Amino acid sequence: MPVRTIEAKTGLTKGMFPEPFLISLYRAQAPYRGCAHGCRYCDGRAEKYYVDGDFETDICVRGNLPELVASDVALGTAAREYGAVCIGSGVTDVYQPIERELRLTRRTIEALIPARLPIIILTKNDLILRDFDLLAQFPKALVIFTVTAIDPAVARILEPRASPPEARLAAVRKAKEAGFFSGILAMPLCPGISDTEANTEDLFASGVADFIYPGGLTLRPGRQKDLFLSLVEENFPELAPLYADVYRENRQSGMPLASYTAPKGKKWNSRLKVLRIPQMIPHRVYRELLSPPDSLFVLLSHMQSLYANKSVDTRPLKEATGRYGSWLKENRSALRRKRIPLLASDPFPITRVLTEKLDALCRREGGFESVCGNARLSALVSSLIKDGTVFDYPTLTAGGRTDS
Ligand code: SF4
Repeated sequence: MPVRTIEAKTGLTKGMFPEPFLISLYRAQAPYRGCAHGCRYCDGRAEKYYVDGDFETDICVRGNLPELVASDVALGTAAREYGAVCIGSGVTDVYQPIERELRLTRRTIEALIPARLPIIILTKNDLILRDFDLLAQFPKALVIFTVTAIDPAVARILEPRASPPEARLAAVRKAKEAGFFSGILAMPLCPGISDTEANTEDLFASGVADFIYPGGLTLRPGRQKDLFLSLVEENFPELAPLYADVYRENRQSGMPLASYTAPKGKKWNSRLKVLRIPQMIPHRVYRELLSPPDSLFVLLSHMQSLYANKSVDTRPLKEATGRYGSWLKENRSALRRKRIPLLASDPFPITRVLTEKLDALCRREGGFESVCGNARLSALVSSLIKDGTVFDYPTLTAGGRTDS
């Protein structure tokens, strides 16, 4: 396959808030652009994301990325604030087949070790097993594998050059054995192909992941949708009328009809609840990967989805999250402007001060309520922060089991 070198302009960046989906505070750019795994549903090939060339065959390589990340780490981009760093984005896989020879992702991971931050990697390639020796040198690691179809024949149609599903599930188990957190991103589950009860039952019962994150298929009008519909015509012609119906609105977001997705989502969530598997990265995991103030921000964001799934009106929660976000932003920005000196005994001083401020708020009568404006939420947050307990996603209770 042809490989073109492009220059990485940024190495490592730091957010104002952790990103609630993959919960990282820091982001290292992807070492590659385009993706040879060639998943037929991939929205990386949608016009919105991809710049030029053929998504599956014109793989661009950011050869200078490891040096750029090493330089950012040396200059202190990753200093003063504790929080997970995620490599790459959802529109390429950091373990491209060519990574076996180039070792660009491996060198990028190596460059991050001195930062002493947790790391998060999402992939569909069990080549990541090669780098477990490096991941073991981070304070915490979360390895997420995307697995959508359990049947290898179906997976070959949908994800032709990714590792077979059984190899990915074996890697999930090995990640746990190595002492990492591990999860399964079960998305996209494609209508009639992989969102069937048979497939989801096998997938949900498949292993030891800390969470399984299910989600449906979006088809953005243009390259992505055209390609996927031709796959359906060719391999699952009996499903063509279903796709024509469910994606008939041709929305720019690629979303199918809510009347199709909502019952599916409800069913997956209630099944996962029965199996006591969190349906997104759970609090007990990300509170090890983020500081308490950032974990709280993610928790409030996740609670909006968790309660929305139960048809609860989440507007008060949304408002409280916004107010807490403003508090966090204001305090974090002020501390970042101060350039607090670094000491070996205090490597993350901004995190330390923010954590102390939040703790003091939660210990003061009405303290957190003055920030979030919600007495009920304030009582819950104060007990989580003061007692160091966990919010259990399957049961929506505080102080729940820490091993679920
Ligand atoms: S592995 Fe991810 S980025 Fe690569 S083609 Fe598949 S869905 Fe797209």
